[in-house]
Amino acid sequence: MKRAVFLDRDGTITNDDNYFSSYDQIRFVDGLAESIRILNGNFLVILITNQPVVARGLCSEDDVKAMNDRIIEELDKQGARIDGAYFCPHHPEQHDDVPEHAKKYRVECSCRKPGIAMIEQAAKDFGVDVGNSFFIGDSTRDVQAAKNAGCTSILVMTGLAGKDGKYDAVPDYKCTDLREAASLVNDFANLKAVILAGGKGERLRPLTIETPKPMLKIAGKPILEHQIEALKRSGVNKIVLCTSYLSVKIKDYFGDGSRFGVKIEYPEEPEGLGSGGAVKNSGEFLKDASYFIIINGDSMIDEKFDLRPLIRCHIRKNVFATLFVRESDHPMDSDVLRMDENGKITEFIGRGQVAEKLANTGMTVCSQELLQYIPDGNCNIEKDVLFKLIGKKDLYGFMMPKEWFKKGVDTPERLESVRMYFGD
Ligand SMILES: [Mg+2]
Ligand SMILES: [Zn+2]
Repeated sequence: MKRAVFLDRDGTITNDDNYFSSYDQIRFVDGLAESIRILNGNFLVILITNQPVVARGLCSEDDVKAMNDRIIEELDKQGARIDGAYFCPHHPEQHDDVPEHAKKYRVECSCRKPGIAMIEQAAKDFGVDVGNSFFIGDSTRDVQAAKNAGCTSILVMTGLAGKDGKYDAVPDYKCTDLREAASLVNDFANLKAVILAGGKGERLRPLTIETPKPMLKIAGKPILEHQIEALKRSGVNKIVLCTSYLSVKIKDYFGDGSRFGVKIEYPEEPEGLGSGGAVKNSGEFLKDASYFIIINGDSMIDEKFDLRPLIRCHIRKNVFATLFVRESDHPMDSDVLRMDENGKITEFIGRGQVAEKLANTGMTVCSQELLQYIPDGNCNIEKDVLFKLIGKKDLYGFMMPKEWFKKGVDTPERLESVRMYFGD
């Protein structure tokens, strides 16, 4: 399944959202070819456009098709590829003065955005994973179409700039123009997850004498496999797996990740780095990622788990790091944090507290910059790095929905209770 960026045409790749009946009327936005080339690296690029200009009798379906072909051709000359173009020629209302031949387009159709028939057709034609695709447009109609289809929506401030006021749908992201939107989408494509799976699992002995903790099975498969499936569901398919203790067992099982539909890389890791050292040691694999996700390899999660809201929150705020937090049922034994009303983390309280329960879950989205703050040698990514930066850098907390299951499996009691929860 491929990922796509669905693009509105008028007002998104062109400056105006007018009725265009010929190619000569079109003025492209600045940097159009460059933006499309960026998207070409990781996505199919597909035009999805309403063209009521046909229903108005101003031009024919063939004219629209010729115009789209010409756009594709011109971009192709600049090395920018548009993989497909779909348009809706209909309009539910019509003026009385439309020519006879155009009257048949006066219909309520399912293709006119925010209808999703064009997206569905493109998904079928190209094998698109719509849930992990993007829709970039300049109107609330586009945003609503994206919502209806289940893709991530980006509203650009060109064309109508969302001021059409037709729908209330709130875009997932707002960008000044297509160039900025392309860069945002590209950041998503380069997003990597670093899974910390090197721990010895000493508290779980003897179970972990021959099996690394992240390979302990729950609900029929290793904890790590549940995580990798959740990452894939969340559109994160590039994974850096930090292994140390019994690493061969992990590598033998997951290999390059292709069996799981992801790409897995394994940094060569000396022993005894701790979680911070392991992240730092992965630096070479993270250099193209504007931001990356760090996950503790011993967290069991369920199939509701989705990292997209956390990633969205991080990108919207554009901060140093965003931590998934939740109310802990065992605050005495958790990393308790204090957060202000804006979600900014103001203090690391630590363990042994009962009055406050807001705890770190061990899943964090961070900017590339974090790597600079990790000291050499053995250190803990939370206590020695992230928590020490509270007050110095912008760290935010994002509340994990209560109904999602997520539990660290680091003691026999917790393993037992998690296995019971999953009916093992
Ligand atoms: Mg438009
Ligand atoms: Zn239609």
